[in-house]
Amino acid sequence: MNAIADNLQQVRARIAEYALRHGRDPAGIELLAVSKTKPLEAIRAAWEAGQRAFGENYVQEGVEKARALSDLPVAWHFIGRIQGNKTQAIAAHFDWVHALASEKHARRLDRQRGDRLAPLNVCIQVNTSGEASKGGVEPKAVAPLLSLVEALPRLRLRGLMTIPAPAGDFAAQRQPFHLLRELFEAHRASHPSLDTLSMGMSGDLEAAIAEGATLVRIGTAIFGPRDPSPGPGQ
Ligand SMILES: *Cc1c(COP(=O)(O)O)cnc(C)c1O
Repeated sequence: MNAIADNLQQVRARIAEYALRHGRDPAGIELLAVSKTKPLEAIRAAWEAGQRAFGENYVQEGVEKARALSDLPVAWHFIGRIQGNKTQAIAAHFDWVHALASEKHARRLDRQRGDRLAPLNVCIQVNTSGEASKGGVEPKAVAPLLSLVEALPRLRLRGLMTIPAPAGDFAAQRQPFHLLRELFEAHRASHPSLDTLSMGMSGDLEAAIAEGATLVRIGTAIFGPRDPSPGPGQ
């Protein structure tokens, strides 16, 4: 078995183990394979091992990969920070966006999505750690953005997402995820299309599952460590 298939199997086993440990149904947790900086062959290997959803952080790289792998029926998730001059490419080539954090970008993505494609699935990124560098809207700014996304016809409101600051122990890792989950529960009654809590990466997977993650974004544990980032402007 190749290393990626092996890693995928281990990540799936960990998800199942953590779900059961925290009283959850493993079937309620989707695995997004974060393939940023990784070559096409790595994505194909994951696909052959049954993986069907992939996350990319850099627009150009993601678009090129989606084009090169257009024979594979997979869902492409844009999980990077959104830049205004890249919304057209995001709207045209991705199925999901995880880090929406501004009304302006919501309106642009809606306008640029067009009628040919299914509505773009959207998660709103929330800043749960008070660190500006992590991006996302403040918890109190979530409500108006939810209402706007829900009202835009070519966007489909799906969930909330967060990227916490690194935390030392398990209890500290849970805190930002707990906050996101509380926000999620609070807004669900008035926004019934909300069904996705996008939280948890390779290093804080169990904490995210303990707090109710329905979609975990895993790169390193599947594809191995990444080379240094491809540079500025992305
Ligand atoms: C890179 C990245 C991940 C995956 O991180 P790993 O630690 O490699 O699992 C998840 N989410 C976002 C937003 C990322 O940028």
